[in-house]
Amino acid sequence: MRSPTSVQTEQLSLMAKQAREAMASDTLSVVADRGYFKSEILACHDANITAYVPKPMTSAAKADGRFNNDAFIYDSAKNEYTCPAGEALIWRFSSIEKGMRLHRYWSSKCQGCTLKLQCTPSKQRRVRRWEHEAVLEEMQNRLSNAPEMMRVRKRTVEDPFGTLKQWMGATHFLTRRLPGVGAEMSLNVLAYNLKRVMNILGTNNLMKAMSA
Ligand code: SF4
Repeated sequence: MRSPTSVQTEQLSLMAKQAREAMASDTLSVVADRGYFKSEILACHDANITAYVPKPMTSAAKADGRFNNDAFIYDSAKNEYTCPAGEALIWRFSSIEKGMRLHRYWSSKCQGCTLKLQCTPSKQRRVRRWEHEAVLEEMQNRLSNAPEMMRVRKRTVEDPFGTLKQWMGATHFLTRRLPGVGAEMSLNVLAYNLKRVMNILGTNNLMKAMSA
């Protein structure tokens, strides 16, 4: 059985496709918080949905005070990385991990490098690259050029969740297991949406629209 976290992190493209269908639109931009699987970003890309999802903030190297992966610059023409010491990390081999094809790159100069302590405790610093990493890089550039998108997400999403939390009280869900919790949450969201539409349109206009 998949964990709720796993289910949640697989929902982005599904929800985006459903939203696009409901809006009868050919294109759609989706903004989400970090935490979605890379495969979800790719699924959005393949469905012509423009995703804005920040990359995870944690990396083992960064947590240890060493160079983060973004200190390594990829050159697609050469298919190699340049490290903070200016050395080339060349392609070495590829493998499949959890269904993803990953390429590995490293330099032969790490042993004599003056920056090695800041870089890796291993014999050499190895950089992994997903075969569809370019989709993530493209999204990161998009996000860097549109920082207001995350403010839109915060403004749009946090108020409904804050309100729902207040309604539900400081307690757990009343139901157990994913189908029950899903139904309970859907009813709460439906109630929120109805109240919101009533506030905007008024009850009479909502009733008219629903019976049209
Ligand atoms: S340890 Fe290797 S990868 Fe790291 S900065 Fe030095 S040469 Fe570059």
